[in-house]
Amino acid sequence: MSKKIVILGAGYAGLRALHELQKEAADIEITLVDRNEYHYEATDLHEVAAGTQKSERIIYPIRDVVKNSCTTFIQGTVSAIDTEQQLVKLADGKTLSYDYLVVALGFESESFGIPGVDEYSLQMVDVDTAEKIYQHIEEQMKNYKEMQDENALKIIVCGAGFTGIELLGALTDGKKKLAEAAGVDSEKIRLYCVEAVTRLLPMFSEKLSDYGINKLKDWGVEFLTGKPIKEIKEGSVVYLDDKENNTLKELHGGTIIWTTGVSGSHVIGASGFEEKRGRVMVNPDLTYPGRDNVYIIGDCSAVMDEESQRPYPTTAQISLKMGECAGKNIKAQLRGKSTQPFTFHSLGSVCSIGNTHAFGEVGKMEIKGYPASFVKKAIMDRSLFETGGVKEVLAKGRFDFYH
Ligand SMILES: Cc1cc2nc3c(=O)[nH]c(=O)nc-3n(C[C@H](O)[C@H](O)[C@H](O)COP(=O)(O)OP(=O)(O)OC[C@H]3O[C@@H](n4cnc5c(N)ncnc54)[C@H](O)[C@@H]3O)c2cc1C
Repeated sequence: MSKKIVILGAGYAGLRALHELQKEAADIEITLVDRNEYHYEATDLHEVAAGTQKSERIIYPIRDVVKNSCTTFIQGTVSAIDTEQQLVKLADGKTLSYDYLVVALGFESESFGIPGVDEYSLQMVDVDTAEKIYQHIEEQMKNYKEMQDENALKIIVCGAGFTGIELLGALTDGKKKLAEAAGVDSEKIRLYCVEAVTRLLPMFSEKLSDYGINKLKDWGVEFLTGKPIKEIKEGSVVYLDDKENNTLKELHGGTIIWTTGVSGSHVIGASGFEEKRGRVMVNPDLTYPGRDNVYIIGDCSAVMDEESQRPYPTTAQISLKMGECAGKNIKAQLRGKSTQPFTFHSLGSVCSIGNTHAFGEVGKMEIKGYPASFVKKAIMDRSLFETGGVKEVLAKGRFDFYH
């Protein structure tokens, strides 16, 4: 009898696992579930939010990568997983049974319990939320034209992590278009970043992260670092200005975007998995402890890096590798062979600051400026290739290397 494999989530991890399993000649029935009918490149969401990229450029239909001979795609929202009964529950009431399950439901925004975050700031976690950010900014620019309220021209990014920095870079690129909409010079659009720590982007050397931050400062971004955010109010960010005297200050702005951190999908907690912030500490072969037919991968999973003795960070690069590993391990189990532990050797990481600038590391080499943006686009094309193949790279790849 054929084995039923259910994959939840068609992001980097889920589609990479699908790709691996669809190569299997054995008798298998794969069901892929995602709430959207398209896959999106989450690493490009900041460009949609800043209006420098149309969402059509970062998505493609999931059906394009589904092999109808062995896979059924269901557009639906997963509400819970019952590993005892081997069932997945969908929001429309349907249930799916499985022999093997791959959970790849990705990330959500994390408020860390700070009051007002959910109500008064904008999240950037998928295509809809990224589009909402841009619509909101455009609205603010139009409001300025009518009301002449300078706050409408202020955009505050909360958090100076990788996502916040890439968003600020894209916003500096998008400033000209926004200024036109508001009928002002682009210097009048003010970009702020509020961040709790002072040593930014610790994954890079201090020199390299200073390079990126100083470039953004040169382009007009105002950084408030060492200022933990205490509350988000309607139209303002309240932060601790002076730790010794416990003095709070308020920064007003028409657009407040929350990028301080992410957690794994809420479905993980709702399904009773042992988790912390939606992430599950999995076995070295990526299975859930006590359930050797349930794989949890991508941003929902935490796996120990033996070298650093810390869990691997949540990145697209690692999610792709986890998808490959989970797919291969299920194939091994189907053949009665033993599974292999997950291993990852980083090829480096590059942070974009706009379309033509970036900085980062490739192997042991530090790169910056225009050549780094070239490398960043090549990395994006490669990850697009790993989920979508040649067709999607040709249709949606980044080939604007020459400026
Ligand atoms: C702006 C930005 C820039 C980034 N830049 C980089 C970078 O340069 N390099 C890098 O390595 N990483 C980067 N990351 C991180 C990277 O995007 C994530 O680590 C990666 O997307 C995780 O992949 P995933 O497959 O686990 O989940 P996701 O990409 O989040 O995919 C999850 C999938 O599950 C679906 N889904 C979620 N919940 C449900 C549900 N309940 N029911 C049905 N379907 C559901 C979603 O629709 C989605 O298709 C960036 C992230 C952001 C936001």
